[in-house]
Amino acid sequence: MVAALEKFPALVLNADFRPLSYFPLSVWSWQDAIKAVFLERVNVVSEYDRQVRSPSLAFRLPSVIALKEYVPMDRRPAFTRFNVFLRDRFACQYCGERLPTEDLTFDHVVPRARGGRTEWHNVVTACGPCNLRKGHQVPERAGVFPLRAPFEPTARELQENGRAYPPNFLHASWRDFLYWDSELDPA
Ligand SMILES: [Zn+2]
Repeated sequence: MVAALEKFPALVLNADFRPLSYFPLSVWSWQDAIKAVFLERVNVVSEYDRQVRSPSLAFRLPSVIALKEYVPMDRRPAFTRFNVFLRDRFACQYCGERLPTEDLTFDHVVPRARGGRTEWHNVVTACGPCNLRKGHQVPERAGVFPLRAPFEPTARELQENGRAYPPNFLHASWRDFLYWDSELDPA
């Protein structure tokens, strides 16, 4: 019973009905979702067919909930390896190939040995072969340039990119809220 219920996560939307985050997708366990409903912090937007019962109550598990109070989303994103990959859409910024994260590295456009810093404007996603080809040289010397100048992304830009990467679990009622980027699905 409990194990089966674990398959009923709720998609959590901000008060503007967009997911709180796309990657990782904002999902709460059914227990947390129910608790938030009882605390009147969220509205239930959609429900599963599955019911749970207490001695006095029966209710359907929420599949989509929306926060009643808007959470501002304009925080500056952390400079992390993963967020660099996400900014670059998991594609090598030299040859453009899109790869799984375990096959990606990152490259200092201006090498550290030449004063290049580890920050948004100097770090790009690179595949192993391109990283090797460029080595510890500046782009002019190596003859390889990033397809796009690295930049500091906004949280919204990262969210837009994250939308393209589907979670493992996707309930039918969530689709409307995820605005799936079908053109980014592999053909
Ligand atoms: Zn490459």
